[in-house]
Amino acid sequence: MSSLDNLIRHFEQFPGIGSRQAKRFAFHILTLSQTDRTELGSLINSLNDTVIECTSCRRYFTRNGGDTTLCGICSDPNRDRTKLLVVERDNDITPIERSGVYDGLYFVLGGTIPLLDGKEASRVRSNGLKHVTEERLPQGLSEVILGFSVNPDGENTARFVEQLLIPYQAAHTIIITYLGRGLSTGSELEYADPETIKSALKGRTKAS
Ligand SMILES: [Zn+2]
Repeated sequence: MSSLDNLIRHFEQFPGIGSRQAKRFAFHILTLSQTDRTELGSLINSLNDTVIECTSCRRYFTRNGGDTTLCGICSDPNRDRTKLLVVERDNDITPIERSGVYDGLYFVLGGTIPLLDGKEASRVRSNGLKHVTEERLPQGLSEVILGFSVNPDGENTARFVEQLLIPYQAAHTIIITYLGRGLSTGSELEYADPETIKSALKGRTKAS
């Protein structure tokens, strides 16, 4: 396989990118100047050293020197450790932080579980979520908020996480709430505006 074909194959793995768009990206790179191409290559390369996954919430963050493995949110002593907001992707955190109304911690599940899929647990970080829950319970964790997209896959994922947390609910006083109300059907957190997020957080509902 030529390096061009290989590059196209990589772009095809990007979320929402088909083979036609993958080819367009690859051919666009060919039209760049040699300097830009080199810069792009070294930028991607540098991610290995500068960006790491937070060992607690699992979001990616830029490590500004030092050897911390916790992101700025997880290592902030002022964050409310009684709340854990579970989201699908890294990108969901940015609009919530921008809305300025949430001061708890996060966990990035890494995706959703499609409604029609048997391989549930392998698709998302279920063990990671269990681990974080167990770690946070002694620190006073009392509410797990599920912030998934308002669509069938998001709802299926919410049911999956509820099941996953049942053992902890029985043994501890934690409640599960949903961001769902306030977000309209089909909406994704990533694209929600600050006002929508504010009302979704204020109007979050308890699992029945
Ligand atoms: Zn973190």
